[in-house]
Amino acid sequence: MTTQDPHQDIRDAVRALCAEFPDEYHRRVDEQRAYPEAFVDALTRAGWLAALIPQEYGGSGLGLTEASVIMEEINRSGGNSGACHGQMYNMGTLLRHGSRAQKEQFLPRIASGEWRLQTMAVTEPTTGTDTTKIKTMAVRKGDRYVVNGQKVWISRVQHSDWMILLARTTPLAEVKRKSEGMSIFLVDLRTAQQRGLTVRPIANMVNHETNELFFEDLEVPAEHLIGEEGQGFRYILDGLNAERTLIAAECIGDGHWFIDRVTKYARERVVFGRPIGQNQGVQFPIAQAHIEVQAASLMRYEACRLFDAGQPCGPQANMAKYLAAKASWEAADACLQFHGGFGFAHEYDVERKFRETRLYQVAPISTNLILSHVAEHVLGLPRSF
Ligand SMILES: Cc1cc2nc3c(=O)[nH]c(=O)nc-3n(C[C@H](O)[C@H](O)[C@H](O)COP(=O)(O)OP(=O)(O)OC[C@H]3O[C@@H](n4cnc5c(N)ncnc54)[C@H](O)[C@@H]3O)c2cc1C
Repeated sequence: MTTQDPHQDIRDAVRALCAEFPDEYHRRVDEQRAYPEAFVDALTRAGWLAALIPQEYGGSGLGLTEASVIMEEINRSGGNSGACHGQMYNMGTLLRHGSRAQKEQFLPRIASGEWRLQTMAVTEPTTGTDTTKIKTMAVRKGDRYVVNGQKVWISRVQHSDWMILLARTTPLAEVKRKSEGMSIFLVDLRTAQQRGLTVRPIANMVNHETNELFFEDLEVPAEHLIGEEGQGFRYILDGLNAERTLIAAECIGDGHWFIDRVTKYARERVVFGRPIGQNQGVQFPIAQAHIEVQAASLMRYEACRLFDAGQPCGPQANMAKYLAAKASWEAADACLQFHGGFGFAHEYDVERKFRETRLYQVAPISTNLILSHVAEHVLGLPRSF
């Protein structure tokens, strides 16, 4: 970045905090499949994860642009925002659609770190990306809803106090439009496991705490419904542009990390009597990845600009996520390749970051689904599903 970067102060401050958590810290947490508690606590205490919470509720009231810079810097430092990014954007649903009383109850506590709202439960095992077919039902009984069903890949449940849950409140067969009849709820995770929620961790390729959830007559007080019953799918969609843009920023941070590491290594590693970086066969994939990271970054800023101006930004948010996930993956591939065998050694951290950044081709939205969005909603091609 140039010295004219308007966010240099944020970058410097986040970098200074992240510098207290060097490679060894993140490597150890990964090896132990642990949660980076101290890192997340430090980010929370410094207020970075409350960037998007308005000042009246105890946050710093920054825009998506600044929030994206924070996420980028965390990943550029060698950390993994995936451990805590939910704390930054999950509250957006509450902020936009919650009642005044809910906002006053939740937002200051999320801002201070007293409560973590790091979990959002949407995906189900039998329906996957076809979200409107979800089967988890919440049935109103007096002053509560009774939830039955199943979710999969629900992250950070064990490091969150509250969860946002998407469930059907009207069966699919009884709604005019398939996007209607779903609602979102705040579920108190501190007590849910004694009241009908079973949490089963899924061992996976990255150090990402994620779980299968089983709901058996879990009761949720009606006052924990967010917004209007039946409108939950629309509320979730409203939040996706912010989520996609922030995850794009994480990928951009990863991309910079890979390029920084591989350029340094390629300058220093001597084979056949010269630095490997002197060979154009080594230079070109790195240069290409750098160009793609920079281009993705511009699309990220455009998505942020529109979002912060309150304008529609669906195409830009999706394109930023697509470009950034692709760029970080290409940077990861070049970084691993040109570290040769050392790329596979834990102590170089390349294989860890390589695994972490691969996730973003699939979650929270897969590349094909972004292409489908652009084909249909931007280019006007016929719907394919
Ligand atoms: C580590 C991890 C953490 C996650 N955390 C969460 C979380 O906290 N909360 C949550 O709700 N979910 C979470 N997810 C779920 C994630 O959002 C989904 O895995 C993702 O959206 C893809 O859905 P799926 O796995 O059901 O794939 P499927 O929908 O089964 O799709 C499988 C593949 O087929 C492709 N495909 C499907 N349909 C089409 C089509 N019509 N055209 C072209 N290609 C198609 C997809 O692109 C994908 O590559 C997480 C997933 C992972 C792996």
